[in-house]
Amino acid sequence: MADLRELYQSVILDHNRSPRNFRDITGSSRWAEGNNPLCGDRLRVSVSLAGDVIEDVAFRGSGCAISKASASLMTEAVKGKTVAEASTMFDRFHEMVTGRLAPEDAKPALGKLALFAGVSEFPVRVKCASLCWHALKAALEADQEVVSTE
Ligand code: ZN
Repeated sequence: MADLRELYQSVILDHNRSPRNFRDITGSSRWAEGNNPLCGDRLRVSVSLAGDVIEDVAFRGSGCAISKASASLMTEAVKGKTVAEASTMFDRFHEMVTGRLAPEDAKPALGKLALFAGVSEFPVRVKCASLCWHALKAALEADQEVVSTE
């Protein structure tokens, strides 16, 4: 478990320092904003779809290391996936961070994202880690919405 914790920390640090897909998508895209007032995290997730496939996904915003790293890893994970696949990943991720799914069972669907299993021990952090997913879901379901974890 110590190794997993170290890996988790180094991945969070890395993605917080140099977040992937930290930009806007130009052209036609859907987006949604996520607010987590408890921590002060604010993210805007943009997606561009090619039919049913997430062709591009990016985020902007400010927040704690966990919210940023989670968004960064999420954009890497869902790019190229179908909307249905991304939706399944959201479900697995949510079950895992709320402690209802063991990380080893989440891993086939989530890959690297299974590292976030540790946040299930910290209820406040669950909202930080899942904020980007709520915003992604809102962006996929409708245009220009603001979602809140509250
Ligand atoms: Zn946070």
